[in-house]
This record gives sequence, structure tokens and C-alpha cells, in this order.
Amino acid sequence: MRERDRRRLLKSAPGVLLAVTLPGVHGATLIGVRVWPSPDYTRVTLELDAPLPATHFTTSDPPRVVVDFEGIDLTAALRELVARVRADDPYIAGVRIGQNRPGVARLVLDLKHAVDAQVFALTPVGDYRHRMVIDLYPLQPPDPIAELIAQNAQNARNTSAAQAARTARSTVGTRPAAPAPSAYPDPIDPLAQWLRERAPAPAGASSSARPESGPSQGVDRVITIAIDPGHGGEDPGAIGPGGTMEKEVVLAIARRLRDRLAAESTWRVLMTRDGDFFVPLATRVRKAAAVSADLFISIHADAFTSPEARGSSVFVLSERGASSVGARWLANQENRADQIGGVNISGVNVRVTDRDVSGVLIDLTTAAQIRHSRRLGTAVLNELGRLGPVHKPSVEQAAFAVLKAPDIPSLLVETAFISHPQEEEKLRDPLFQDQVAQALHAGIRHYFRAHPPGPRGAPA
Ligand SMILES: [Zn+2]
Repeated sequence: MRERDRRRLLKSAPGVLLAVTLPGVHGATLIGVRVWPSPDYTRVTLELDAPLPATHFTTSDPPRVVVDFEGIDLTAALRELVARVRADDPYIAGVRIGQNRPGVARLVLDLKHAVDAQVFALTPVGDYRHRMVIDLYPLQPPDPIAELIAQNAQNARNTSAAQAARTARSTVGTRPAAPAPSAYPDPIDPLAQWLRERAPAPAGASSSARPESGPSQGVDRVITIAIDPGHGGEDPGAIGPGGTMEKEVVLAIARRLRDRLAAESTWRVLMTRDGDFFVPLATRVRKAAAVSADLFISIHADAFTSPEARGSSVFVLSERGASSVGARWLANQENRADQIGGVNISGVNVRVTDRDVSGVLIDLTTAAQIRHSRRLGTAVLNELGRLGPVHKPSVEQAAFAVLKAPDIPSLLVETAFISHPQEEEKLRDPLFQDQVAQALHAGIRHYFRAHPPGPRGAPA
């Protein structure tokens, strides 16, 4: 049921650029062409009802990726792609289609700069048929720490602008809506300090939104929170009866949580994705580890087997087995994200998956991670309970791949069940989205107040 709905919705979703049926010479049909631009990488997906032999090569001067689709004439359908690539795509400057020779359609991607191109096929999964994927990665992967600092400088600027706007409004009689005062005194930020020393700040950039030091009261350094909006890109997550996509509402909630945290100098925030693109599960974990996150919180709003299921629930990793049938079912659903989203089996992503995520090698560090995560989860669940009845009164456990960072307390929050018509309605409501963000914020604050993190590099 859901899968058919998902296909229908994918065809009408933003980012879906073409959904046409064009019989090929040998009976293959192009079902859709989609483009997912993002800062991490740009993905072009061609979906067909049969496998399509293709070869590719790259040129560096000028930078291009050339893909030949063999034994089929898709030229007319592919031509639709030309107009659909966005001018602000970080990697693609333009697309050209031609008939290279009889029965061979040639797709040329003119690039803004040289890329690491990965072209691969995906076999049918979920409601997807055969997919041919072209991923364009930067040759030099961005430095996650530098990105984090830059992102947070931007957040701080946005926050002060928003505060100024609120203050201005409050002087004309509206109720002031200033954010809650920081839970902690302004903390030391050794990471930012180190970065400033390493490289001069760009002209005009705020050198730091945070003081170098402050009175120590439990927490004496900036705490890094990795916020992980579930799904994205080719993976819409669950889809509600009214057509709401999980990937969209969880990104909205994640951004609200980010903005709330960014308003306080205690926190530095990393978003594992801040746009509509697919991020493999292992990459989410790796991004958090790269910035030595003190907490990883994955935000979801899944469907459930029963449409009556409602309320929030909070999950942590399990050492073995799941705490309930429902938790196991959900973990299985979530762990399919890589197949639905589309990971290159022969590419870099899966090598990381093998090392970090697949295979359950739970050691003592992970046992401590789970212990901390349970405490954190309880604090968050208590706050979510103020919003309405929770789905389960205690933190649940299962083998979620995305929670497997061995030394980062990690939570997966099901904010509501998108399969429940009323909850779907709420998930779309900015007020409810903000209430959830507020509850997550309060839970995180309570946890770190009770369990201040140790020195950077040591487990919390
Ligand atoms: Zn989900």
C-alpha cells in the first residue's frame, strides 16, 4: 500500500524532474529522471523498468562526465533533463544529450569543476524499479570541522538578526518572544579557538560568537550536537495517508531544533543533512564522529503497521535483540534506508558501512554509549510526554544502524506516527514542529546539566 503511494508521490514531488513513459528500442521504459543537488554531492537518477547497459568516462579539461546508454534510444526522454538542472547546482553546469551512434544515447554532463564521478546500477527495491545513478562528489571532501564552525558562525548571525527583529517587534506592543536564556554560562570553545589560530578568519566573519572563557559551572566547554534528519533524496521515508513525506517534516523539526540550540552559546550544531538529499546511514555516523559530537539525535516520523499507533517514542541501540517486536520492526525499516536511498555497493560508501555499521561488534565502549543514551533518552522522553501521550512509556532498544557510533550517546526519536491521520496533520503544523523541537531541546539541556561532558576526546 505504502509503496504504491510512495511511487505516486515521488512522481509529483519536488526534485522529481521527469516522469514519462517512453518505450525504448528493446522495450525498456524510462520511468523517471531525478536530480538531487546538494553541497555533499549531486545525484542524477534514471529509473527504468529493465536494466540498462551503460558505460561512462570522465574528462578533466574541460571537466565532463560522459555516459553512454547502450542498446536503447532514450534521446528524446533524456532531453527533458537538459532544462531541469538547476543553475545553482554545485557541480553540474549543463547537460547535453545526443545520439552517439545508432542505439546508443550519450549523456554529457558539463561540470563546474572536476569531480569524483560514480556511476552505478541499483536493482529493484521497495517500489523502485531499476535505477541508474550518477553521483558527482567533490575531489576534495570538505573538512567537516571547518564546515561546522562556518555553519555555526552563520547560525549565530541569523540568531542575532532574529533576536533584533523580535526586540523591535516587542517595542511596538507585541509579546516579546525572546529565546530562553542559556542553560549554562558562556562556555569555552577550544575547537573554535584552535581553528582561529590555525587559519585567519575570513574578512568580515565574526571571529567568534562566544567568549574565550566564562565561569565554570558543570559544563566548561561548547557541546557539539549532531542533528540527523532521517531519510532524504531518493528515500522519502514513510508517507502519510495525506501524502506528507517523513523526510520533509523531520527536516523542518531538525531545523527548528538547530535554531533553538544556536540561540544559546552552550551548543554547536552539526546537521547531517540540511537539504533534500540522500545521506547513507554510515555517513551520518561518520559526520558526527568527524566533529567529535557529544550527542547524536536522529529525528523521524515513521509509519507503523497499525494505523492506530500514535505518540512519540525514543530508541537507543541494543546490545543484542530488540526490546519489543515493534522496535525490531522499526529498526529493520530504518536500516533499509541505504537500499531505498541507493548506496553504491562498489563505491566508498559501503566500505565505510562495513567498518562502522554492519556486523554487530559491541564492545565495552558501546555498552557505555548505550547507558548514556538511555539516560539521555529518558530525559527527552519525559519532555515529549508533556506534549501528549507517548507511544511507549520507556526508552526502547533495537539495532538501528544509525545509532552505532561507539562513543557518542545516540538517540532515534520517532516524533509521531505519520501513518496516523491526526498525527500526520500535526506533523505538518509549524506549531507542533516547534513544540517537538522545544521538547528535544529541553531534554538535551536536562541531560547535560545532570551529566556534563568530560574534556574533549574523553567519553561524556
Ligand atoms: Zn524514519
